[in-house]
Amino acid sequence: MQGEIKCGSSKRRLGRVVSVLLLAASTVSLSAAIEPAMAGAGGSTTRVSEEPLPDQVLIGKSTRGRPILAKRQGDPNATRVLLVVGQMHGDEPKGTAVVRSLRKRRISENGNVAIWTVSTMNPDGQTRRTRVNARSVDLNRNFPTKWRRLAKGGTYSGPRPASEVETTAVMAFTERLRPDAIMSFHQPLDTVMTVCDAKARPWVRRIGRLAGLPVPSTRGCVARDRSYPGTLNKWFSAHFPGWFATVELPVSSVVNKSKIRRYTNTVIEISRLIRDRSR
Ligand SMILES: [Zn+2]
Repeated sequence: MQGEIKCGSSKRRLGRVVSVLLLAASTVSLSAAIEPAMAGAGGSTTRVSEEPLPDQVLIGKSTRGRPILAKRQGDPNATRVLLVVGQMHGDEPKGTAVVRSLRKRRISENGNVAIWTVSTMNPDGQTRRTRVNARSVDLNRNFPTKWRRLAKGGTYSGPRPASEVETTAVMAFTERLRPDAIMSFHQPLDTVMTVCDAKARPWVRRIGRLAGLPVPSTRGCVARDRSYPGTLNKWFSAHFPGWFATVELPVSSVVNKSKIRRYTNTVIEISRLIRDRSR
């Protein structure tokens, strides 16, 4: 959930961020590989030529040492990339169900599009079924763009911008990946947010149609937007040319198998549209 009703969906702190990105297979630091990519962040979609990542990457560990994993499906050499974050708030489980379902689907390995999924970026919160991480921080208020000190409670923003290891893990991986888009799942508002952001707007509407989720009007956007400081959305949108959509699924009790299938199909269709629109 975002903002005042809780849930929700962004300058860079290179040194710390780089140090947390590790390769799952070899546990080798990717610092050297990331730095050239970061140097160009924010300017264009051009990716620095580098070795493709393996299909599974340990992007970091939680406060309690739990792994935060990213997995790729699709073309390892794709120039078009969609990143899906299944869960940021540990008490919002249905995005992880979408990721589970998505990972069972076959995505062409030579289709020039890759879908990367992070099932949860808050494994401690997932285990404890809490919105916040193990240090009581709302990760979606902890990103450094327009970060604001928010008191301890459901939306505690942490002691300083990007103070949390989960936040820096996602930042480092995003810098390395430079996705064309991020879809970040939350609950339970039954809507697609980020319609305020002009570059995301057409995509938000498309996602709403495909997924059967209502899209809010743009009226009152600016005021609404101010109530969400330090989000992944704000950080990504400020530093990358890609678009970001916060996909707020409904309450868990109404998210049945058929809805999970529809949300999964939506992600796959959006990945194809990202690829096709770049041709
Ligand atoms: Zn949420």
